[in-house]
Amino acid sequence: MIVRGAVLREMGLPAPYADSRPLQVEELELAPPGPGELLIRIRATGLCHSDLSVIDGSRPRVMPMLLGHEATGEVIHSEAPGFAPGDVVACAFVPACGTCTPCAEGRAALCEPGAAANTAGTLLSGAHRLEGVHHHLGVSGFADHAVISAHSAVKINASLPPEIAALFGCAVMTGVGAVVNTAQLRAGRSTAIFGLGGVGLSALLGAVLAGAYPIVAVDVVPAKLDLARELGATATVNARDEDAVEQVRAATAGGAEYTFETVGNANVLAQAYAATRRGGTTITVGLPHPSQSFSVPAVSLVAEERTVKGSYLGSSVPSRDIPRYVALYQAGRLPVDRLLTATIGLDDLNRAFDDLAAGTSIRQVLLF
Ligand SMILES: [Zn+2]
Ligand SMILES: [Zn+2]
Repeated sequence: MIVRGAVLREMGLPAPYADSRPLQVEELELAPPGPGELLIRIRATGLCHSDLSVIDGSRPRVMPMLLGHEATGEVIHSEAPGFAPGDVVACAFVPACGTCTPCAEGRAALCEPGAAANTAGTLLSGAHRLEGVHHHLGVSGFADHAVISAHSAVKINASLPPEIAALFGCAVMTGVGAVVNTAQLRAGRSTAIFGLGGVGLSALLGAVLAGAYPIVAVDVVPAKLDLARELGATATVNARDEDAVEQVRAATAGGAEYTFETVGNANVLAQAYAATRRGGTTITVGLPHPSQSFSVPAVSLVAEERTVKGSYLGSSVPSRDIPRYVALYQAGRLPVDRLLTATIGLDDLNRAFDDLAAGTSIRQVLLF
């Protein structure tokens, strides 16, 4: 079938993207699903910083590629057991094969065939279903239809508004998962969150849910700090005006027990590490450019029992975690709808990525 979608053919074009137009809306041939795959009609796809990182070249991927990975859709045709037309799914941006060693250990976010397929720009099977264009993280949600592996799909309640449902596959799973899975944060633990995009604010919602206290939110955009306070941050720090490390240490009586870095910047990660107290844990969630490195005084790991832990996809098992987070949202315990800034159309994508880069939006969601 012919689909309409936004293709990136060249990374690193100059901003503003409204002028350089790195994403071009094209008509492409989409092959039917193979064994274990689904054809879905995309209902909504969020714009994530990881898409922007491909566009600006800081997260290099094979070109050309049809971007978009935070998606929800309705199954039109299934070649996979357990899925039928009419099912509504959220897409996870790492397919979980279920049988490799990390999957068998319950670490689906580290699925080895899933990571290899994402790097190659294919589906989990190794197939390309888009003619001449690579898949983005097994999803390619900036198009009206997609073929995905059933291992990328988690069935969700069909009554969720699509612009909310889309958020669970990336922002919510990554941010809430970093708190409840990677950190296993418990009530009363002092926490600081660096960066208040979709993932950082999801981590904040997770910290509130887990009963963390105090919760310090750090960013450079005043409107995001205001939103963080509304969502449960007990203190905020504008890192442009104040020394973030000093302020977090002051707000947590000498340093936070847990800090979360969601910006994807090694300097911010160093601040997050320095803002922990003795025995503290730094969770790193953002994806820095591959050339960046991070150093710590080695003795502090030993003599101060500090920990640095990476968190990919919130250390999630999508089929376990997405239904839990959806249930918490529906019960009013995880207000992820507060992350939604605007809904847009395919032709608005380039301008919308300018807004994301400028920090003037949290989550913009492409609706079909
Ligand atoms: Zn994402
Ligand atoms: Zn696996």
